[in-house]
Amino acid sequence: MSTPAATDNMAATLTIIPLPAFNDNYIWLIHRAEHSDAYVVDPGDATPVLHYLAANNSHLSGILLTHHHSDHTGGIARLKAAFPDVKIYGPAQESISSITSALQGNEEIFLPELNCSAKVLSVPGHTSGHIAYLLQNNLFCGDTLFSGGCGRLFEGTAEQMYRSLAQFATLDDNVKVYCAHEYTLANLAFAQTVEPNNSDIRQYLDWCQQQRQHHLPTLPSSIGLEKRINPFLRCNEHSVQAQVANHCGQKTSNSTQVFTQLRQWKDNF
Ligand SMILES: [Zn+2]
Repeated sequence: MSTPAATDNMAATLTIIPLPAFNDNYIWLIHRAEHSDAYVVDPGDATPVLHYLAANNSHLSGILLTHHHSDHTGGIARLKAAFPDVKIYGPAQESISSITSALQGNEEIFLPELNCSAKVLSVPGHTSGHIAYLLQNNLFCGDTLFSGGCGRLFEGTAEQMYRSLAQFATLDDNVKVYCAHEYTLANLAFAQTVEPNNSDIRQYLDWCQQQRQHHLPTLPSSIGLEKRINPFLRCNEHSVQAQVANHCGQKTSNSTQVFTQLRQWKDNF
């Protein structure tokens, strides 16, 4: 039988729960199975978070923010009113007034209530200061990577977004991807147009349609799966390059240029 000290030294097992918000957002709630302290990622709305915490007799210890958009930050004021000691982590490069710990890329922070550290990744593109969090093998990527797609370029450049996604692609295939929106079905319709002969996309689409018919999330995804089905992570593939060239009437094998054209194509899809 393990002593309490030995138990604390073991890697914490995290439980991660999707709290649906608005039309298609997920606020990811993280806690340790045996503990009542929770963190949330990108709480655009306080209501689903407060309901969950009350129903489970839980305390909100921390908030992890990926970027400044209001559908990711709009719930902070009410959460802070309910839990005045809550720690609020967010990107140093973006002005979010409520942040108590401003983070840079490549930082590693320790989250004591989860007994777990988080690696911070700088992933500009959707916004100019966007960050992502890697907790064990769980990636919280905000609006940078979606299953089958990627975020729109509101502030950053296509080159920045391509580098950010390339950074994700270097992670282990078994890293789970917790995106902030349920966009998978729409993204896969585009992915199939780009790669009509990709059988992985076809199989995954079948599974996602069943999930959505039962009102279940298609997330989390994984890095390994995204590398097989997400055209934005497949700009080196000849099949993707050929379809992009066909659509744009301009042939290139420069993967950043392929990404740029693919993103423009999706914007008008
Ligand atoms: Zn956003």
